[in-house]
Amino acid sequence: MSKVGTQRIAVFGAGPIGLEAALYALAIGADVQLFEMGQIGEQLLRWGFVRMFSPFGMNSTNLGRAALHRDQPTRELPPDSDFLTGTEYREQYLVPLAESSALRGRIQTQTRILAVGRTGWRKSDPIPHTRKPLPPFRVLLRDTNNLERIETFDVILDCTGTLTRPSTIGDGNIPAIGETTASAHMTYWPVDVLGSQRAHYAGKSIIVIGGGYTAATTICDLATLAEDDQATWTIWLTRGPRSSQPLPRIPADPLKERDRLAVRANSLASRGDGNLEFHTQTVIDEVTCHGPDQGFCVRGRVGGKPMSWDVERVIANVGYRPDLSIGSELRVHEPTGSIETEEPGYFVLGSKSHGRDANFLLREGYDQIRRAFTAITGKPGLDLYNQKAA
Ligand SMILES: Cc1cc2nc3c(=O)[nH]c(=O)nc-3n(C[C@H](O)[C@H](O)[C@H](O)COP(=O)(O)OP(=O)(O)OC[C@H]3O[C@@H](n4cnc5c(N)ncnc54)[C@H](O)[C@@H]3O)c2cc1C
Repeated sequence: MSKVGTQRIAVFGAGPIGLEAALYALAIGADVQLFEMGQIGEQLLRWGFVRMFSPFGMNSTNLGRAALHRDQPTRELPPDSDFLTGTEYREQYLVPLAESSALRGRIQTQTRILAVGRTGWRKSDPIPHTRKPLPPFRVLLRDTNNLERIETFDVILDCTGTLTRPSTIGDGNIPAIGETTASAHMTYWPVDVLGSQRAHYAGKSIIVIGGGYTAATTICDLATLAEDDQATWTIWLTRGPRSSQPLPRIPADPLKERDRLAVRANSLASRGDGNLEFHTQTVIDEVTCHGPDQGFCVRGRVGGKPMSWDVERVIANVGYRPDLSIGSELRVHEPTGSIETEEPGYFVLGSKSHGRDANFLLREGYDQIRRAFTAITGKPGLDLYNQKAA
């Protein structure tokens, strides 16, 4: 690759990983621009009420801390051992980072990436077998005034996450019959049932679909809600194998808060506490919404036997999938853990790099940033995270 100072780098997405990637790029003297479709840490606004299970020390870097301390040496950051909520993490770390002098003028919020191609090149064109660098990327952007423009870059760091694309509840990961209509009245994200959404869920019958940590958080919160309002009734449906343990526990899990969540959700499921009914081996066939606030009928099979439920609320915590449309005119395939793509200079970092697998931790994302920049600079020993904070 060409010399770093002469390369234009685009970072897509101002989540935790996009912000840190932009900071890293600046620290090595690159020319970087970051584009975010919403606000800083936009997707954390969806789950801001959830307490993170990794402590702040694992969710921040020496580069980020140094950038904040350079601007304000007396700034107090949360202790490394603190477990912040998503909102606290966004407000106390991500937003100040975006406003730091290091990143000033480098971030364009309310700017959506629509598509990326290469100048004078199409996906169907043969790959040149020369050492000549490929033509630059052309990025189509749209701002809040609906104005579109093209900018060109040599390197793309796609950090757009997955939360903008919820998965669907039907068998084979396609929508269940009726879901595309009913989805407007269902919820696919973490739900603050003990806070801002309490009135919507208290005393209601609720189906929760999904067997991961997000569903487990929802289940635990609904059980707490049921202690206050006994009429709250939850039916938890997972597709996992016949077992009383919906969440497999990670042996000797280093993240104790994550393990505690799994233990509590598993115990609620096996004991039926918290007004909870739990079914494994469930397949959802159909969902009918009777109208806004008029309830749902959900039909499916439990262990092969047909079942149907009439409920007032449906929460689908069934995971998310990466948006593949951005790079569809490039050799960028569905990510499955690797940061490198077949398209030279196009990297997928952060939660998007895990594709549909939700088990991504920020700590891994920082290591991805480090590795991406060793490839970009051609310096295998480059590691700005292993230096003492300035
Ligand atoms: C409830 C919950 C709790 C979690 N708790 C932890 C935890 O305790 N510890 C931990 O390490 N991880 C945790 N995670 C996992 C993960 O670290 C977070 O999801 C984290 O936000 C991922 O960071 P990211 O930068 O990869 O993606 P995101 O935070 O999703 O950021 C992507 C950004 O890209 C933007 N974007 C998307 N599409 C476009 C586009 N076309 N154009 C422009 N911008 C776009 C989005 O608006 C967003 O701001 C948790 C996740 C969830 C959902």
